[in-house]
Amino acid sequence: MIVDSHVHILPPSRTRGLVRWIHRIFPGHPSSEDMTADQVLEDLAACGVEKVFNFVFPLKEEETEPLNAFSREVASAYPDVTGFGSLHAKTPRKEEVTERCIAEYGLAGIKLHPYVQLFEAFSPTFEPMFSKLEELARPFVVHTGFDVFYRQTQDLDYLRGILEGHPGMPVVLVHSLFPRFTLAYELMSEYPQLYLDMTNSVSAMRWYRESPGKWTSHEEGRQIAENLDHFEPLLEEFSSRTMFGTDHPAGMGSPAQVYADLDWFGLPAATVEDLKGRTALDFLEKHCGGDGL
Ligand SMILES: [Zn+2]
Repeated sequence: MIVDSHVHILPPSRTRGLVRWIHRIFPGHPSSEDMTADQVLEDLAACGVEKVFNFVFPLKEEETEPLNAFSREVASAYPDVTGFGSLHAKTPRKEEVTERCIAEYGLAGIKLHPYVQLFEAFSPTFEPMFSKLEELARPFVVHTGFDVFYRQTQDLDYLRGILEGHPGMPVVLVHSLFPRFTLAYELMSEYPQLYLDMTNSVSAMRWYRESPGKWTSHEEGRQIAENLDHFEPLLEEFSSRTMFGTDHPAGMGSPAQVYADLDWFGLPAATVEDLKGRTALDFLEKHCGGDGL
């Protein structure tokens, strides 16, 4: 079964904004600004996707509650969608909001996109959320990497502290710290509660492999070269804790292109099966209260 571990079904105004943004980055990108949940899911179904993880992220505090309610609505309207909640750094009583998302709304965990939400996720501000997630044994899913593209950084020492201090909270590093695969490899070796989401990292690595000299940023090209040796070992050795998705409707191309990018590497069949769905199904079962969510 193919499980897309990274999709954004959002309210219409946010979908418009997201697709407008992706068009600025990739002119000619096939997504349209008026895409509905049905269309997003149809595009994915055409690639054989049977289940998806849906991520929302409030750009301002006031949006937190309506977006979490929206995530719940989508997940209840579409049984194959596993919804996640989100918080903003300014959200008061983070432990209560986290608990409501999971216990009341039936959402699987919390996803943060700090580079777009414009705050530091690896900070004491989110400790109440980490503690609640650990108590409930539910996942913290967080954007990591693509620092050059977003022109931002994260406190990765604090991330290590979170992994040390909250061993009962599953953590998913979305984009696998791209391109810090050496660090991702180290962390995956050390922390059994850690998972990776290879969304966009795979497409970016394909682009790099095809024309390393043409990489858009010299600095990032240098970082990729330094981490190259750990990319495939990371996928192959830790595939049982590595997921993969499209970021549809704002991925690095159509869903078909994104899956073609993964196939391009010619990885061992067992690795590909893990990335395309087996790990995500196992993750739902182990950490999200079962795959019926
Ligand atoms: Zn995304």
